[in-house]
Amino acid sequence: MPWFKRVEKGIHTPTEEKKETPDGLWYKCPSCKAVTSMAEHRKNLSTCVKCNHHDRVGSKEYFAILFDNNEFTELDANLTSGDPLDFVDSKPYPNRIVATQKSTGLKDAVRSAYGKMNGQEITISCMDFNFIGGSMGSVVGEKIARAIDHARKTRTPFMMISKSGGARMMEAGFSLMQMAKTSAKLALLSEEGLPYISMLTDPTTGGVTASYAMLGDFNIAEPGALIGFAGPRVIKETIGKDLPKGFQSAEFVLEHGFLDFIVDRKELKQKLTDLLTMVYVKEADATATKSSKATKAS
Ligand SMILES: [Zn+2]
Repeated sequence: MPWFKRVEKGIHTPTEEKKETPDGLWYKCPSCKAVTSMAEHRKNLSTCVKCNHHDRVGSKEYFAILFDNNEFTELDANLTSGDPLDFVDSKPYPNRIVATQKSTGLKDAVRSAYGKMNGQEITISCMDFNFIGGSMGSVVGEKIARAIDHARKTRTPFMMISKSGGARMMEAGFSLMQMAKTSAKLALLSEEGLPYISMLTDPTTGGVTASYAMLGDFNIAEPGALIGFAGPRVIKETIGKDLPKGFQSAEFVLEHGFLDFIVDRKELKQKLTDLLTMVYVKEADATATKSSKATKAS
């Protein structure tokens, strides 16, 4: 038996009088299907209130989470890509870049900035998946290299937030060179005694996993993030075996020793602050601490 029965027949509502829910008011979790208001979802830093599914967010959101009062200075904001190979797929590469810049409001797949996190200075590079799948081309590599140089110059810790489908095919070999370039810069950072925290978010794959994303003094990840080099289908075809359950999830990767810990986005800022307080004291502060100790001693 139906719950509602139409008493009168032939009722028609003109289209202009039909009431529709405005778009973007509600959020439906792709994992548990729970529905919450968009405002509450954003307040919860785009994690599901019910099952804690971490939704993909971009550099804008991560900078807002990490930098105090969302205050930061962006580095190399206007660096844009060339077209070294005259690459054309369904459209020429320069046209694709311009179209993506227009639709996303971003210049390329990474943004770098420095500012304060709970009062501690830090330099952060964060990738954006919306920009051609967060692919790593020359601009991404160069911006990360320059951000590392900025961290070295200012003697601040460096953090990388990765979210990438891998190297950018439209730049072929030029993309692959970015792996070596960023790795070399990170080696200099390490030699100079500055900490590097790498956070892998959903998804981190390909050449990014094979270079800077896995080179952190601390490699951390968000819950449920897909982390891998090749995709599961390619691996399955290569080894001719079924893959274990949960293969390439952050939890699986942690269990197999490739990650230091998994961090909830809502606890990220405090955990990073605690970690950096333990491992790093900036020289000026170090001298101050030493001299205050000396004063106490005398
Ligand atoms: Zn959910």
